[in-house]
Amino acid sequence: MDIRAISLDLDDTLWPIEPVLAHVERSVDAWLHEHCPEVARAWPIEALRALRDEVAAAHPEIAHDFGAQRRLTLRRAFAPFGMGEDWVETTYAVYVRLRNEVECYADTLPALAAMAGHVPLIAITNGTADIARIGLDGHFRFSVCAADVGVAKPGRAIFAHACERLAIDPAHVLHVGDDPVTDVAGARAAGMRTAWINRIGATWQGDDAPDLEVRDLAELADWIGAHARAA
Ligand SMILES: [Mg+2]
Repeated sequence: MDIRAISLDLDDTLWPIEPVLAHVERSVDAWLHEHCPEVARAWPIEALRALRDEVAAAHPEIAHDFGAQRRLTLRRAFAPFGMGEDWVETTYAVYVRLRNEVECYADTLPALAAMAGHVPLIAITNGTADIARIGLDGHFRFSVCAADVGVAKPGRAIFAHACERLAIDPAHVLHVGDDPVTDVAGARAAGMRTAWINRIGATWQGDDAPDLEVRDLAELADWIGAHARAA
C-alpha cells in the first residue's frame, strides 16, 4: 500500500464517546435545573432524549447534521414556555462546550504526533466534535464533518470531498475508524484504503475485510512508521 495521507474518524477512534454523551446529558440537565427549572421539570433526561429521537425520525433532511437536530429539539422543548431562539442558542452553546470535553485514549496523542510526522492527517466525522476546541488541530491538516458536506458517512461524497481537498487519489488515502459500515465499507466504496480500529477485540463480520486491522492507534502508528521508512 502506498499511503500518502490518513483520514481518521473521531468518536470511538480517538476517544470513547459514551462517557462524553452521558456527561453531556447529566450536565445539560443540571444547567436547565439551574437556569430554567420549569423546562428541566418538563423534560427530564429520558424525555429530552426521546424528543431528540422523535425530531431525528421526523426530519430525515437533517439526518447528517446532529447540531441541527439538537437545536430543533431545544426549540421544541422551549416553545411551550414561550422561550425562543436566545434560549436555544445559549443552551446549544452549553452542549457544544460539553461535547468537546473528551478524554482521549492513552495511545491517541503519541500516535497522532508520530503519524503526522510521516503523512498529512485529516479528520472525517459524522459528529459535532471540534478538533480545534479539543486542542488536537495541530496534528491535522483539516477536518471534514457531515454537517458541512451535507452527507454523512458511509456516503461516498464525504470521503470524495476529503480526498479532493487533500488533492490525493483516494487509493493513496488510508481511512481509519471503528465502525465496520460507516468507516470501513464507506471508505472502501469511495476507493480509499481502510484500517479498522478494533479496540474491543471484536471479530470482523462479512467478506470485505479491511486492508488493515489494528487494536489501537499505537499499532497503526507503528505500521505507518515501518511503511513510511520502507517507502
Ligand atoms: Mg467512530
